[in-house]
Order: sequence, then C-alpha cells, then structure tokens
Amino acid sequence: MPNISKGTKVAGEVAEEHRSSAFYRVKTMVMKDGEGPWYVRIITPFDQMPSADTHMFCETKPKPPEYKGSNWQKAMFAVCQNDRMFEILDANDKRTGVYEDGYGDCYVHNRDRGKIREGKFPRDKSLPDWQTYALAVVREPVLDQATGRVRGYKDAEDEFKAEDGTLKKIPKFVILSQKHRNFWSGLEAALFDGGSLAARDIRVTRKENDYSFAVADPDPALYPGSAAWARYTDALELTGYDLDEEILKWASPDWYKRWFIEGAVPEGGYGGDEEAAEETAAGTADVGAARPDPAAVSDFAARLQEARSGASSS
Ligand SMILES: [Zn+2]
Repeated sequence: MPNISKGTKVAGEVAEEHRSSAFYRVKTMVMKDGEGPWYVRIITPFDQMPSADTHMFCETKPKPPEYKGSNWQKAMFAVCQNDRMFEILDANDKRTGVYEDGYGDCYVHNRDRGKIREGKFPRDKSLPDWQTYALAVVREPVLDQATGRVRGYKDAEDEFKAEDGTLKKIPKFVILSQKHRNFWSGLEAALFDGGSLAARDIRVTRKENDYSFAVADPDPALYPGSAAWARYTDALELTGYDLDEEILKWASPDWYKRWFIEGAVPEGGYGGDEEAAEETAAGTADVGAARPDPAAVSDFAARLQEARSGASSS
C-alpha cells in the first residue's frame, strides 16, 4: 500500500528538502496571475492534506490512433512514480529503496532527464514539484442588495449524474494543487490564532507567484460536524469521490500509458469525446473566479482587519 505523505507539516519538511472516482470529475482550481479573487471553503484538514512529487507540465505522447476524441491534450500532469509513497518501508518504517511493482522507475523522469525547461527559472524538465493537495468547495459572495456589502457566502453549485441518470445538485468541489512555500505556509500563517480551517471562508488573491489570504471569522453554522456540513459529506458519499484515490490514479501505470508512453494503451482504452472532455477538466480547466463589486471586497478586507486588530488587542 502506498504511504501517502500527509499533512502540511510534512509538506513543509519535504519542501525544504526539495529546495535545491470514476464518474465525478473534480477540477483542479486554476488561479492565474491577474485574476481572482477566489473564495473557497477548504474541506481537507491541514494534517490530512496529501503531498506528492508531481510532474506539472509534461508533454504528452502524440495523439494515439486508438483515441477517438478530437481534444487530445499536449500537456498533462502526473504524480511521479518515484514518489516516496511507493517505496516499501521496513518494519521500523525506514525507507528501503525498493519500490512497489510498477513504480520506482518513473517514465517521465527517464524521458525528460537532461532536457531543459525554458522560462523564468530554467531547470531540468524531469524534476517534479512537491505539491500539496486539498479538496475545497467554491464559495460565492452574497451581496446585500441595498448596500452592496458582502453579507455572507454560499456554495457554488455543480451537478452530478447519479447511476439512475438523474441529475443532482451538489456543492462545487475543486482540488487545490499548491506548493507549501508560496501557498499553504501563507494560509497557515493567516490562521494566526491556530483556529480551524474548515469553519472559515477564505479569500485568495494572487500577484505573480505570491498568494495572499483573507480569513473570515469562524462560521457559526457551517463547520465539520454541524448540520449544514452534512451537505458536503453527503455529496462526497453520493459521488464516491476520494482525493487520495485521485492522486494514486495520477501516478498509476494506466495514467502513464494513457498520456505518456508511446505505443501503450490504457486498460479500457481511451474512450470518446465525452471522456476526453472530462480528462481535460481534470487537467487544466479553469474555475471562473467570482468577481464581486471591488468596493465590497475592500469593505470586506477592512472589516476583517478591524476584527483582527480587535482580537489581537484583547
Ligand atoms: Zn518522476
């Protein structure tokens, strides 16, 4: 069994070292410089966030003849098959250097070693990034009609096609795939009182590669264990979605066969356009940023600061 690295504490330690469901597709939230702000409720607790070496923008193989869709991706990410989670541990939980079957000889590593990725910081293309993952729900500010002020947040909606074909409305889940050093460490710092993450709405803004966070007061109604929270746990049960499974899928021999290994065909084939569109969504889809009135946003920020200075002086 893979030993997925869990927790932002581990993510931080490993980030230091690195300094030198089948039916319901959860998209990765793309936060581009110059867009946003984004509002999220983060579901995965800090100490349960999985981390993995991830090849972020890998060239895919040429469109295979068996692929019947029209939307073959030129780049896709993959969880590295040399990640420590696939290394067999001895009886004392020490790493052995021996990997589970099918792992430890990462195809992308072997293929891209020695090639240079151009850009602001050129480096060897085969080097993975240590990404930390979390499940979140997209939130939307609710504005007071009269004053234009933000008076709360609500879930963005998604649809899930149940096995009997009926469409069910569920909260819109997204995956956050981010680095500890420029994202998660900042969010930990923003929770200055060590308070619970899941009880708060969080506003994320991005400037170049720096993210900043505004953290709302704990929600008196929506927090893990509350009656309102059941809509998240119910939706995850309904869809059968599991973040750990997703990450294992992105490292699987099938994922590598599908996207990278020329001549190899994934078990079950490539599927048609519909499935291709879903894979696209898994890889690169944009999640539209909520854009409330800028005045309302600065008002929110001001009130947040007020609340904070009140909290720190008491
Ligand atoms: Zn690799």
